[in-house]
Amino acid sequence: MNPVLRIDLDAFAANLRHIRGIVAPAEHLLVVKDDAYGHGVEQIVSRAWAEGVRWFGAFDVPTAQRVRATVGEEARIFVWLAATGDDLETAASLDLDVGVGDAAVLDAAARVAAGTGRRLRIHLKIDTGLHRNGIRPEDWDDALARAHAHRGTVEVVGVWSHLAEASDADDDAAAAQFADAVARARAAGFDIRHVHLAASAASFLRPEFRNDLVRVGAFAYGIRPAGGPGESELGIRRVATLAAPVVAVDRDEVRIAIGSLHGLPSVLGGRTDVGTPTGLAALLEIAPLESRVARWREALVGDEVIVYGAGGPSATDLAEAIDTIGEEIAVRVSPLVRREWF
Ligand SMILES: *Cc1c(COP(=O)(O)O)cnc(C)c1O
Repeated sequence: MNPVLRIDLDAFAANLRHIRGIVAPAEHLLVVKDDAYGHGVEQIVSRAWAEGVRWFGAFDVPTAQRVRATVGEEARIFVWLAATGDDLETAASLDLDVGVGDAAVLDAAARVAAGTGRRLRIHLKIDTGLHRNGIRPEDWDDALARAHAHRGTVEVVGVWSHLAEASDADDDAAAAQFADAVARARAAGFDIRHVHLAASAASFLRPEFRNDLVRVGAFAYGIRPAGGPGESELGIRRVATLAAPVVAVDRDEVRIAIGSLHGLPSVLGGRTDVGTPTGLAALLEIAPLESRVARWREALVGDEVIVYGAGGPSATDLAEAIDTIGEEIAVRVSPLVRREWF
């Protein structure tokens, strides 16, 4: 008896339609990093394509390669951590849109593109305060000048950044810096067609930050923000349900076939409830291959316990119990756990 992660593709599709309704006329770039937050890149991307999503994004080139293999040549695929020569070469051959936050990478991209005979589409990243990577505002004009010098090989078509989402005031300051960078790129003669700043939370809650594209992951998978608005308020539905069968029933507790080796953070033991056939029950302890749950009266071997998802707490409920975010819970579910899409 084994755990299973069930992925409700109709709920996912409903989230996509809801997101489109909210962010239009901005377009939705679906973020599929970390195997589509553990939901499976191929299945997620196929359904999203069928639902009309035309932009996809991940940090790494191998994920972009899976997207390209799944949806073909028309999809636009944005990668934001392609920095090595190999990555850039693959990016050129797959016709990816490449996020660049470093002037040296811009030079490398130009060299690679010259070698392959293809022009690379670049989205330049301005550092608006997160200091993760990104071109500092004081270096922006220099980066634009370099891009101009490379214009036969690299084509700057986008400007982007990422918000800290720590406070509205910080995000306002970041958005102002961002708008300034976009204006400077346009004034320098670049035809900037794709301006993107917002991820899930800002795309719903800060309409003025939507620009041309919003890079939304979490809300598409029905994962609400920790400490933020609820699913019904946001209008999103849970997509993944992590379930495990009961393998033993003792006097005061039952054992279920899922543990830390399947990706459950062991610190969750004693800090959350899980769903049972008769309601919620306390998750007592997480061992490597099994966990203990407080017994409910009619418990039987073979019953199903919902660790998170439909019929149990949400991924974000679990995350809040250990001070993290729902995405973290979702992406940790191990490949040992069988996936079922329906
Ligand atoms: C993860 C990520 C996103 C998506 O964030 P969500 O909050 O999951 O919507 C967008 N942009 C970048 C650069 C990211 O790393």
